[in-house]
Amino acid sequence: MDETRITGSDPESIRILESALRRLNNGFQDLEPNSTNIIGIRQIEEVLLEVADRMKDNFPYFHPLYAGQMMKPPHPLARLAYMLALYINPNNHALDGGRASSHMEKEAVARIAAMFGWETFLGHLTGGGTMANLEALWLAGQVHPGKLIVASSQAHYTHTRLSKVLGLPFQTVPANRFGKMDMEELKRLLNMGPIGTLVATIGTTATGATDPLPEILRLQEEHGFRIHADTAYGGYFTLAGTLAAPTREVYDRLGEVDSIVVDPHKHGMQPYGCGCILFKDPSVGVHYKHDSPYTYFSSDELHLGEISLECSRPGASAVALWATQTLLPMVKEGEFAGLLDLGREAALLLYGKLKTDNRFITAFAPELDILIWAPKASSVTECSKRSRQLFEQAGRNNLHLALAELPCHFFDLDREDILRDRDTITCLRSVLMKPEHKEWLPRLWEILSQSMDHILR
Ligand SMILES: *Cc1c(COP(=O)(O)O)cnc(C)c1O
Repeated sequence: MDETRITGSDPESIRILESALRRLNNGFQDLEPNSTNIIGIRQIEEVLLEVADRMKDNFPYFHPLYAGQMMKPPHPLARLAYMLALYINPNNHALDGGRASSHMEKEAVARIAAMFGWETFLGHLTGGGTMANLEALWLAGQVHPGKLIVASSQAHYTHTRLSKVLGLPFQTVPANRFGKMDMEELKRLLNMGPIGTLVATIGTTATGATDPLPEILRLQEEHGFRIHADTAYGGYFTLAGTLAAPTREVYDRLGEVDSIVVDPHKHGMQPYGCGCILFKDPSVGVHYKHDSPYTYFSSDELHLGEISLECSRPGASAVALWATQTLLPMVKEGEFAGLLDLGREAALLLYGKLKTDNRFITAFAPELDILIWAPKASSVTECSKRSRQLFEQAGRNNLHLALAELPCHFFDLDREDILRDRDTITCLRSVLMKPEHKEWLPRLWEILSQSMDHILR
């Protein structure tokens, strides 16, 4: 067998798909045979090979030396289950468009809710984190019409944009030097007027920082705003065993918020097109369909399209997610949780190496598995320039990092005696979200170190 470089592309997985397809076919045996030969199979192969050629023009997202953006390959089972489901191509908009896959969606979503300790809730899958957040903010606007939405300056930019789409007033709360929503600034804002909904980002996209939820909940008691937790990236880390105590505290309070977004297509090992929105109070379902009683929304016969802003949705997404969760149950200390811990351990290892190497400057310790750092130089402008050079040089050596433009105050420039001649710094960012990253860390570091030496020559 050829050594495969594309993770999970082995002939064995194609064999498994064939046997599952035969099993699926058995379920439709009373149908009259419909033996349409696929016309033009030769042309199909030709075009598919052309597609393979076109697809070579990509960074190798599946490889452990891709350590840049938030890209995690789907689990081989997710890919197979998705492909298998495509032969039916169910639509989870309604039960008659996808009966089995709608039930699997309900089960899969209940498993995600259980991760946050929610037994009763309202929720469904979405096309992604953006759509899931749109529903959360839309609902926030239904509950608190016209009232202010706030999120930290490190929240995903989608919240600003979605608030505009929804015609809701939006304000940013500055982030402190740990990348978290600044509580003093929030209090100042609360003194100026009421807030309808606060978006707490638990795991920011740039650095994986978590907003201080325990303190936000304390302020909620006083001021009565709604809390929406955007854990599109970080949600699954509630299962991790390696969080630092303050981060653990944030996750332990997550079940107290009003709504949660989590993206199975980020840390849930799913193909793109899989987000999830959860509301703690199922009665919010009335906002989707005004004339239905609450019980209707939690009934077994619920059509998912009745509690979703999107209409047609891929049943295959639900099938892939259900299969992955069945193989790797989402429980603390389980195998799935262990895979999250591996990435986090990789981030801590790399952080330790960078911190003790005087060619680099680091920011706050990573809370999850995302790390930011920069080459050290005399000024921020010079650090930024070297970040770009290191990004290019590492890429030439097959180590793929990412660049990020972040506030200077994330780095302790005074201690490092670096001239702050700009407000933001171009730094390097690594999302170490593949379980293999830990094992590959020595190699990753070797290339990073050599690339740095090369640009300093
Ligand atoms: C990725 C992300 C989003 C956007 O989600 P998509 O799935 O890309 O649409 C929103 N918020 C946070 C915190 C994210 O990390």
